[in-house]
Amino acid sequence: MTLTEKDSQYLWHPYTQHKTAQTPIAISKGEGALLWDENGKEYIDAIASWWVNPFGHSNKFIADAIYKQLTTLEHVLFGGFTHEPAIKVAEKLIEILPGNQQKIFFSDNGSTAVEVAIKVALQYFFNKNEKRTTIIAFENAFHGDTFAAMAASGISFYTQAFQGMFIDVVRIPVPVKGKEQESFEALKNVIDNYNCAGFIFEPLVQGAAGMVMYEPEALAKLIQICAGNNVLTIADEVMTGFGKTGKTFAMDYVSEQPDMICLSKALTGGTIPMAITTFTQEVFDAFYDDDINKALFHGHTFTANPTGCAAALASIDLLQMPEMQENIERINKSHLSFQKKIENHSKVITARTLGVIFAVEIKSDSEESYYGSMRTKLYNFFIDKGVVLRPVGNIVYILPPYIMTDEQLQKVYSIIEEAIEMV
Ligand SMILES: *Cc1c(COP(=O)(O)O)cnc(C)c1O
Repeated sequence: MTLTEKDSQYLWHPYTQHKTAQTPIAISKGEGALLWDENGKEYIDAIASWWVNPFGHSNKFIADAIYKQLTTLEHVLFGGFTHEPAIKVAEKLIEILPGNQQKIFFSDNGSTAVEVAIKVALQYFFNKNEKRTTIIAFENAFHGDTFAAMAASGISFYTQAFQGMFIDVVRIPVPVKGKEQESFEALKNVIDNYNCAGFIFEPLVQGAAGMVMYEPEALAKLIQICAGNNVLTIADEVMTGFGKTGKTFAMDYVSEQPDMICLSKALTGGTIPMAITTFTQEVFDAFYDDDINKALFHGHTFTANPTGCAAALASIDLLQMPEMQENIERINKSHLSFQKKIENHSKVITARTLGVIFAVEIKSDSEESYYGSMRTKLYNFFIDKGVVLRPVGNIVYILPPYIMTDEQLQKVYSIIEEAIEMV
């Protein structure tokens, strides 16, 4: 049996209708921005394998750090024990995160980072004997697939089977250009009419919605409204964190600071699943008490896995190297000139760039659904040409590893241009 035959016998893939899905491609090797399948066909990974891999595949620097940690202390339980890698990650993050973030809580993936933040927001008020049970979220948000994260997410086909089983979430419009006032008014209305505990948002860029972008000033205003009403704010930087927007965190563009931040994806450079939720001292203090019932009873078996911590430290080191910052700027400049080149094309609705994130909306005759026919056509075209891109409906986005070469980037652009002509 071939690998793909065995795959179809044994495996269940994420976000996949196996009856109609195409067979997956078996990848056997990765290096830098490139992947190779079992037949030796080469692909440019233009989306950093779901946004996790900024420093390239099979990165030697991170691999060495992992090996060293694996052969020193691979894992120890974090209940009642601690270790240097976790402390170093915390110290490092507190140094580079927005200044009010003071406490670090480890978990395993983006969804759990969000789950922790939402539970903390709800228990914060429980601990203070205040009845606040509603979470505010943006329309078309994506915060993950566990239950609270799913409740906060607004992309319907991810969540429709579970309607009626969720915590209370009220949605407000995203303050995209021209809709800022509507968004502010909606937030004030929700706060007036519900007992709101927290507001969770993807800062500046909604990834899964198709790289929908909005301005830092608008987000600052929303955070101010929350702060004025004692509603906790949660910045879900799972996608935007660690350089994607051109700054270390998207919140670095925003004049206001959130109460909590969720991190994962690029945290370990795409090597080991790990996530972190960070908090202000004030949030932490609401759980700090002689009463054990006020503690946060949440944890995961692999919490603060030392090997994951070592990978995170190596990744942050890589991110902070001047060459990596230059790479981010180089890709951003390149995206901006590509945007300029194609934004007036008759088949382009809009194009947008922030940091290394680029997205173009292509005109389609019919209303294009998330996994619609145009999307399939585009996806197959890109794969055929040896470029990994996963369009969201009629939106094609690029989120390259920062080490992608100019030549590779130009190839991705020219294939997108061909695709625009084709559809
Ligand atoms: C990917 C993502 C998540 C979920 O992360 P997982 O690791 O897939 O659970 C949460 N929030 C945002 C903004 C994401 O992009």
